[in-house]
Amino acid sequence: MPQRTEHPISRTQELRPTVAIDLGGTHLRGALVSPGGEMLAHSRATRPRGAAEIVGAIRSLVQQLSDEGRGAIAGVGISVPGVVSGGRITANNLDWHDFALAEALGDLGIPLVVANDMKAAALGERRFGRGRGLDNLILLTVSTGIGAGIIIGGRIYDGAHGIAGEVGHTVVVVNGLLCSCGRRGCWEMLASGTAHNRRIIEAFESGTWPNLTACPTPQQVTERATSGDRAALALVRRTARYIGIGCANLVNLYDPQAIVFTGGFARANWELIADEVRREVHEQALIPGGDMLLTELGDDAGLLGAATLVLERERGAA
Ligand SMILES: [Zn+2]
Repeated sequence: MPQRTEHPISRTQELRPTVAIDLGGTHLRGALVSPGGEMLAHSRATRPRGAAEIVGAIRSLVQQLSDEGRGAIAGVGISVPGVVSGGRITANNLDWHDFALAEALGDLGIPLVVANDMKAAALGERRFGRGRGLDNLILLTVSTGIGAGIIIGGRIYDGAHGIAGEVGHTVVVVNGLLCSCGRRGCWEMLASGTAHNRRIIEAFESGTWPNLTACPTPQQVTERATSGDRAALALVRRTARYIGIGCANLVNLYDPQAIVFTGGFARANWELIADEVRREVHEQALIPGGDMLLTELGDDAGLLGAATLVLERERGAA
């Protein structure tokens, strides 16, 4: 479950804006968000390195945004890039192991909810984005890695230890490539933006584009694929196919009404990959069900997700 401090939200507070904090691998963003999802104020900074510095930066961001809202704040929602379990956060890219963030922040005087970024984004997508009105929904991030926020029956699914949604580390190739998690053949070793980039380099080195003197960037491959370069299109479609195979597994596991895609690779290539992903899911899943959709929230997903943590907490959805 997301961790909380003991300040129940009253009906009046539900009409107040929320302070949303999106703690990322490289950035720290904050916003004052209205209950309707409007960004009333916004702040972005490079994330400090140490835990104490991060806590200090979050505290001053909360103060700054609370002041912008003249102190009438419903609560603070914080989205973090790690596993949140029993009020403690483990995040490798922050070098946090069982870190008690809420405790370190101290009493802010307003309710505080902390959750994993994928889970927060899934709730945000359901409240403000493509998942509106859907009770069974998966938000799938296809970026440097692959991760998911899973909503079942209108509630986020955490699992027993908070790791539900780590779908990128499900093995799809026996004795496949070694993954950062220590296993081989994880889905994200095939279907992530990182895997796509690896295949671009391999293609370039094997002479796919004899006229090019430098290896094209993923963005250039997307542009080439869009303008009819068949080799570039084949590379993008290959990644799409691998994404689709994993999505068919997700459909078989969770039977969602929709999988909403976000993340750098999915957003940059959606027009090129959507049909291929849908076709693969249609062919491979036990049922053809589940729409494959692109996020509507874009870069604001983290902040709107963090705001939703506070907005939804009385309904038991977070
Ligand atoms: Zn892995």
